[in-house]
Amino acid sequence: MTEHENKKPKNDVYDLRSALALLKTLPGEYVETKVAVDPQAELSGVYRYVGAGGTCQRPTRKNGPAMVFHNIKGFNDISVAIGLNGSRRRVSEFLNCPPEKLGHLLKDSVQCPIPTVVVAPDKAPCREVIHLASDPDFDLRKLLPAPTNTEEDAGPYITMGLCYASDPDTHESDITIHRLCIQGRDELSMWLTPGRHIDAFRIKAEEQGQPLPISISIGVDPAIEVAACFEPPTTPLGFDELSIAGALRGRAVEMVQCITIDEKAIAHAEIVIEGVLLPNVRVREDQNTHTGKAMPEFPGYTGEAKEAIPVIKVTAVTHRHNPIWRTTLGPGEEHVNMAGIPTEASILALVERAMPGKLLNVFAHSAGGGKLLAVMQFKKSASTDEGRQRQAALLAFSAFPELKHVVLVDDDVDIFDSDDVLWAMQTRYQGDVDTVFIPGVRCHPLDPSQMPAYSPSILQQGMSCKTLFDCTVPFHLKSHFERSKFKEVEVKHFLPDFE
Ligand code: MN
Repeated sequence: MTEHENKKPKNDVYDLRSALALLKTLPGEYVETKVAVDPQAELSGVYRYVGAGGTCQRPTRKNGPAMVFHNIKGFNDISVAIGLNGSRRRVSEFLNCPPEKLGHLLKDSVQCPIPTVVVAPDKAPCREVIHLASDPDFDLRKLLPAPTNTEEDAGPYITMGLCYASDPDTHESDITIHRLCIQGRDELSMWLTPGRHIDAFRIKAEEQGQPLPISISIGVDPAIEVAACFEPPTTPLGFDELSIAGALRGRAVEMVQCITIDEKAIAHAEIVIEGVLLPNVRVREDQNTHTGKAMPEFPGYTGEAKEAIPVIKVTAVTHRHNPIWRTTLGPGEEHVNMAGIPTEASILALVERAMPGKLLNVFAHSAGGGKLLAVMQFKKSASTDEGRQRQAALLAFSAFPELKHVVLVDDDVDIFDSDDVLWAMQTRYQGDVDTVFIPGVRCHPLDPSQMPAYSPSILQQGMSCKTLFDCTVPFHLKSHFERSKFKEVEVKHFLPDFE
């Protein structure tokens, strides 16, 4: 039995509304506005200042509050929520776990998954209102206030759509957040990074000449949003990441059978889109704008519009009364937490299996959007541990294939404080002996430096030189690297309010 098993979160968060209710009780974690806002570039422009942080263009604010916009131009009775997972502190409140332990909590949750359960439609709040695409008045562009994040984007994007589909043969399911652009009254384009599991299902269905049913649930419990970001090998093909969300919440995620397709959706979602991925149909992502751009992505740059990507034919939209649309900016701390905490869990799990007790903690750093950079805190306790820290870094590259840089530090360095990590680099690192290059390895296609024009070792876009920066002290020199020892005191004696 693991440490976190059977511990129900003290905060009863099970959907977006209960998550927002919790934030309203915490000072500084929530703001809202009733001022009319244009979903076309303006909404994202506002939140960039209020709370994006992370990789977002400066000026921005790190650890700013989550925000709800109540008055969306062109839409009635629908509000938009952004930034719930935009600080590690908020995620720690949702999951009832100290911020620095979140990676460990997720690692344990993968080991004790709780499968989904199916509830009747009358127990599914997402079914309070139903719109069928067969209705001639049906138009996604009028129903969904999906923001266009910058003025040059290819269109309105669904950035927090939890896409759920199943293997046509084995019926095993997968949940992942994908980039979805509204292309017309009943069509979405879908960009799937190569290797994603729903793409494997889609390819299988396409080979059989069949459409693949897919549900897109928007506005859910933050535990689901974080769990959905797990990737292989931690969650191999066929592993339903919703069962990790069940473990995180201490109770199963409730699903409901869709109306127009043979698939399920998240019962407590604010909004559900039902549809099918069409076989052998492709669309140009920026066909309506011809800007060549897609939307802002996690590395802090706007992704290129794809030439030819799959199309979802939408068959229905269902939602709650007065639904809350959920969106995110692309770059920023929200992506860092959703992608990064599962990355930390994956690295912790694999290294722990290989060398128990050596890797104390990992931070999937904000600068890499939670994917490109990991800071690993390694404990050398004997001379035979020398070199094992680099072995741990190699395991990290295996645990999470999109990882590009690893910084290794000792157990006396605060991995969540970049100043302290860079201090270790200044005083415990010599570039010529402590840098290890691993060129020509597959990484993440959205890092713009990973293109052949950049380096002769990069043969294709998405390949990279992975690098580890070993900022740990060589074990036999340890006595030269003790930090100055200040006297232990009780500060509260002098400043009672000190925290
Ligand atoms: Mn998966």
